Amino acid sequence: MNTYDVLWQRILAELETTFSEDIFQEVFEPLKSTHKYANDHVYVIVPSEFIKNRINRLYLGKINTLAQKFNQAPIRFKFVTASEMIPEETLISPERNLSLKYRPGNLNATYTFDNFVVGKSNMFAFRMAMKVADQPGAVANPLYIFGDVGLGKTHLMQAIGNYILDQDINKKVLYVKADGFIEDFANLLKKERMEDFNAKYREIDVLLVDDIQIMGGATKTQMEFFKLFDYLYQANKQIVITSDKPASELKNIMTRLTSRFEVGLTVDIQVPDLEHRIEILKRKLASESSDIHDIPNNVLEFIASSFVTNIRELEGALKRVLFYCLTNNLDMTVETVNEALEPLLKTKRKSDSLNENNYDRIQSIVSDFYGITLDDLVGKKRHSKYILPRHIAMYIIKLRYNIPYKTIGSLFGDRDHSTVLAACEKIDNDLKQDAALKIAVDTIIKKIDAFNRK
Ligand code: ADP
Ligand code: MG
Repeated sequence: MNTYDVLWQRILAELETTFSEDIFQEVFEPLKSTHKYANDHVYVIVPSEFIKNRINRLYLGKINTLAQKFNQAPIRFKFVTASEMIPEETLISPERNLSLKYRPGNLNATYTFDNFVVGKSNMFAFRMAMKVADQPGAVANPLYIFGDVGLGKTHLMQAIGNYILDQDINKKVLYVKADGFIEDFANLLKKERMEDFNAKYREIDVLLVDDIQIMGGATKTQMEFFKLFDYLYQANKQIVITSDKPASELKNIMTRLTSRFEVGLTVDIQVPDLEHRIEILKRKLASESSDIHDIPNNVLEFIASSFVTNIRELEGALKRVLFYCLTNNLDMTVETVNEALEPLLKTKRKSDSLNENNYDRIQSIVSDFYGITLDDLVGKKRHSKYILPRHIAMYIIKLRYNIPYKTIGSLFGDRDHSTVLAACEKIDNDLKQDAALKIAVDTIIKKIDAFNRK
């Protein structure tokens, strides 16, 4: 530990006695170490814009006062998200043998750190995954990765496993999808072969559980998983979990488990921006065993602009384009590519416009319910008479369509990710305590459903 880490630990210890356990766990627990020191500032990387704003608004003064108290020289703390730090660490990638596609423990050898393209949307997740892979069990346990579908959670998780095996082929890494775990547990009950189950799940060094949200509702499986989790955790074995949502938002998963997930480090993966998507296309193109290795920039841009929210779809589009142009012996132009992608784009347009109508509809049902205009609902007025309905509409859209916070922000006069996130969290919390609010939201949702059935 360097001096600044020591200072930070001291401050953390003090904060722990000052704040409630909830706040401490949620806000400070993940911030185990400092990132760098420059110009009298100690930098600490926080997992999200939301946490950053929260610290800056509520706790920064206190932290800096403590820093003054504990440190002789003047020093201040700065909390930043990973994307605000300029990439500086160059990562070592070990030589590996790619001839085997599948490796021990169900790992797919093609998912590695070197072919994971890093950008703002996944930088922090990537760095933390690298750290965990470098020192399993020692950095963050569990590592909890969440994000929307097709954004690289499975890839990153398996990259951790592959990296660990590259360092030490004797390590026992087990990758399992949550439904695979449910199945194994069901078989265990049928055959009562506890030894087999334990041999598979306990005698390992690293456990990777993909798509934990699938365990929602499977109570008995969750209890068994809870036991396993504690067993491995106590033994200091690394656990990595992925999910489509933060642990606190998981549905029908016992809090005993979700609170365990939160003791480690949570990282999220967001939608990549255009530049990042173009870079992904370029890297995929370079690794494709096709004759085409060069696609004009405007064509890449066209593909990247058409597939925004899902990297799997983006890859699919590229494959389709390559195949189409090769088999028909065509040049890569925006026109030919447009032709090649037309069937995909057509279905996308259909579902996009359906969804857009639905977002509009939610907004108008909410504004009707509260007797305000649609303009005021999405506008900038800060009166509580507008704010509550605005927040409710954001919350319902997130709940129903689970689209990125940023996209929701764009439906409400270009508000940013953290504003929408805070609004959704607020409503979610308030609903637990405020019966009148719950009745209002339930009524609105019923109206929306009634409309959708027409
Ligand atoms: P998720 O598990 O989040 O649904 P996956 O990990 O299955 O997503 O990723 C979908 C596809 O996109 C995979 O083929 C994966 O290799 C690719 N992919 C995702 N993120 C990246 C990235 N940052 N760089 C390169 N490929 C990526
Ligand atoms: Mg996945």
